[in-house]
Amino acid sequence: MSVIVQKFGGTSVADLDRIRNAALRTKAEYDRGNDVAVVVSAMAGTTNQLVQWTGEAAALHDTREYDAVVSTGEQVTAGLLAIILQEMGVSARSWLGWQLPIHTDSSHGSARILDIDVQALRQRFGERQVAVIAGFQGLSAENRITTLGRGGSDTSAVALAAALNADRCDIFTDVDGIYTSDPRIVTKARKLEKITYEEMLESASLGAKVLQTRSVELAMNYGVRLQVLSSFSETPGTLVVDEDEIVEKEIVSGIAYSRDEAKITLRRVADRPGVAAAVFGPLADANINVDMIVQNISQSDQSTDLTFTVTRSHLDRAVAVLEKARPEVGYEKLKADEDVTKVSVIGVGMRSHAGVAQRMFATLAERGINIQVISTSEIKVSVLIEEEYTELALRALHTAYGLDNE
Ligand code: ADP
Ligand code: ASP
Ligand code: MG
Repeated sequence: MSVIVQKFGGTSVADLDRIRNAALRTKAEYDRGNDVAVVVSAMAGTTNQLVQWTGEAAALHDTREYDAVVSTGEQVTAGLLAIILQEMGVSARSWLGWQLPIHTDSSHGSARILDIDVQALRQRFGERQVAVIAGFQGLSAENRITTLGRGGSDTSAVALAAALNADRCDIFTDVDGIYTSDPRIVTKARKLEKITYEEMLESASLGAKVLQTRSVELAMNYGVRLQVLSSFSETPGTLVVDEDEIVEKEIVSGIAYSRDEAKITLRRVADRPGVAAAVFGPLADANINVDMIVQNISQSDQSTDLTFTVTRSHLDRAVAVLEKARPEVGYEKLKADEDVTKVSVIGVGMRSHAGVAQRMFATLAERGINIQVISTSEIKVSVLIEEEYTELALRALHTAYGLDNE
């Protein structure tokens, strides 16, 4: 007998028929004699609607109330799945974050799970009851409902699997696994049988939203056996595993993209010590993440252009902060650009192979795609390009690295 955690994403619980389909997957595990905890997302589109309402109610709003609103979608699907399981003769009940509870910190809108009390769940497993848990939500020390950031039900599921020491954590979604690139854009993307935690972590943080970044981090740290698979087919999914479980390592395992970036250029910044601190200090104080940075060659008059990227939703705030800091920084002009995409090539094999970045630059050059900013790490190369070339760039790179499905 095993302990299994299942997670169903928004499209897998989009209506009652799909919730019934999910319930059958749960029942199958239950009938095998396993203890099952199921984490559900809100019905597809629901969270977007709730987020939109909070924004329309007030552009700048209390994030504790944002969480009170946007966490509600998961309550509906948890209750409905429990009802449908009961209807199928499976003992089940729903659990909200505060009922277990799932303790988080107090960063409303992007809270981190601190710990999960699984005592009640274990007791119910002993009574052969399935636990249906509302994903995406938790409880702060101040006794307020928190949410874990968009896509956070993945993290609820992995954290629960770690707390229960589960034998498997199955993430059911609308694609049948993890691909070499987003299969909705790159039609020749290839499904991977396995991917390393490290590569998946890098892909997720670079925009592949098939798993929330934090969920991969947790799975890696706690050794959770994670599988991504389709709730609509019986084909085996993709396993996320340790590097030593993969025999044939590819140099490049995937290509990710993110439209979540915006570019800021400061023209004619004084080229003197302390300028970078004067620019990035106030941004950090305002909790604005800066990602890619490039400083252009100094011009003869001892000034330079500084270009960097911030999360798109932080752009307005970043511009306001920089305009305020203008007297200290002393730039001539600020230019903001939202029409950019970050495209990244990822692979653990890069550690031991040269030429990966060069191939990326050459491929983009052949297509006439200009590279605006570059950043690299041990296992990835990222470039910022004009947004309208996103699809062309992804497909060209996918072919150039020999990843196309024949
Ligand atoms: P869910 O609602 O089930 O959590 P998401 O929409 O969050 O589903 O994640 C699944 C989506 O992730 C897919 O529909 C796909 O478009 C996208 N995606 C991006 N990159 C990849 C990738 N490398 N492999 C698979 N899917 C990807
Ligand atoms: N419903 C939440 C969202 O849309 C959490 C999730 O689906 O993972 O972001
Ligand atoms: Mg998701």
